[in-house]
Amino acid sequence: MKPRTKLQRQVIAYSQSLHNIDREMLEWAKRDCLDHKGFATKTRVICMDCGQRFSSDLVSRKRAVCPHCGAKLKIEGTRKRNDKQSMYIAMAEICGEFQVIRNFELIAYYKDGKEPRYFIWEIMQHWIKEDGTREIVARSYNMGCTAWCGDLEIRKKEMRGYYNYGYKDVCQDKFHPESVFKSKYMRYGIDHNLQGISFLQAINTLPYSPKTETLLKAKQYALLGYSNGHSGEIGKYWPSIKICLRNKYKIKDASMWFDYLQLLERYHKDLRNAHYVCPKNLKKAHDLYVAKKKRDDEKERRERDMQRLLELKEVAQKYIEEKSKFFDLKLSDGKIIVVPLKNIEEFKQEGDIMHHCVFTNEYFKKKDSLILSARIGKKHIETVEVNLKTWQVVQSRGVCNENTEYHNRIIGLVKKNIGLIRKKVAS
Ligand SMILES: [Zn+2]
Repeated sequence: MKPRTKLQRQVIAYSQSLHNIDREMLEWAKRDCLDHKGFATKTRVICMDCGQRFSSDLVSRKRAVCPHCGAKLKIEGTRKRNDKQSMYIAMAEICGEFQVIRNFELIAYYKDGKEPRYFIWEIMQHWIKEDGTREIVARSYNMGCTAWCGDLEIRKKEMRGYYNYGYKDVCQDKFHPESVFKSKYMRYGIDHNLQGISFLQAINTLPYSPKTETLLKAKQYALLGYSNGHSGEIGKYWPSIKICLRNKYKIKDASMWFDYLQLLERYHKDLRNAHYVCPKNLKKAHDLYVAKKKRDDEKERRERDMQRLLELKEVAQKYIEEKSKFFDLKLSDGKIIVVPLKNIEEFKQEGDIMHHCVFTNEYFKKKDSLILSARIGKKHIETVEVNLKTWQVVQSRGVCNENTEYHNRIIGLVKKNIGLIRKKVAS
């Protein structure tokens, strides 16, 4: 976009006068931002920092110093031989009356036997005037291939959809330690340690959110990052957060800590007691409660099943009490035999064989129904329901509720013997 306003022309002129600091940013990032990894198997370690190999004897407690380049490595047990790391790093400067935030994209490619390749470029600058008006100088972001492209030029400040806070921005992983911020921002607690939220997000939130300011001043960056999109949880557990602040307890993994708090809540623990909310080893405390919850959930499930079984036991008993007088019925026309279902197991079996809902819909609970099974030899043909009040055949259904060729014959047989069934009720 060509600069159109006076402010945009001023910003572009300033922007073009900025020093290229790619090299300084990269040197710092190599030292302090990128992870130094060693990929180890049982016999060898590959130093990702220089691509050279050395013996795994040099590894102690997942750490090692590379004998070739001197890098202090974190050792990962893996057969992987390549790696890629990417991040956003930033530098804050003051230029004229502007606070400038310069964001860089850094990608590092690592390969067994090769020196790493680094790629760094400046992708976005925020220019913020004393009165809060601002402009953005950036490359364009191609959502399709999730990559930056084009030149650094004046861009539209707003972006719909992609970033939930509505303005075009990136969140830096780290600010360069030589970053310079205006004192009005430093008063809020903003300095080069700012993490979790971007500078723009910070200055847009801080004037309206005392909680954000409190978290920032306490350097609770994990909570700060988490607060974006979880303000409800921050509000709900604020008393517990205050306990942490008072005890200078730094929360490093915010989502695990909130998860842990919910577990404490379930077990009615005091959420204002430092003993609970500031565990020395969060992961250990968290996992302990997770295991406890798993055990309790399992116990509850077993109790529920047992309850269901007891319920069915009662129902089964009742069914036999109600319907046993029909059990010796055996209606036959020489080929087809129609007999009552004698217990709940038989309902289940009938439902399974016939693929209909005689068991699922608990027909055994229907007081005024008699359920019969029509068979030829061992083969189940249809299931018949007789209403014990009206003495009507309510339905007779074959496999998957289809009628069979014997349908009318079965109904006729049952109707013919209705008197026999009525006699059982009277007896
Ligand atoms: Zn090395």
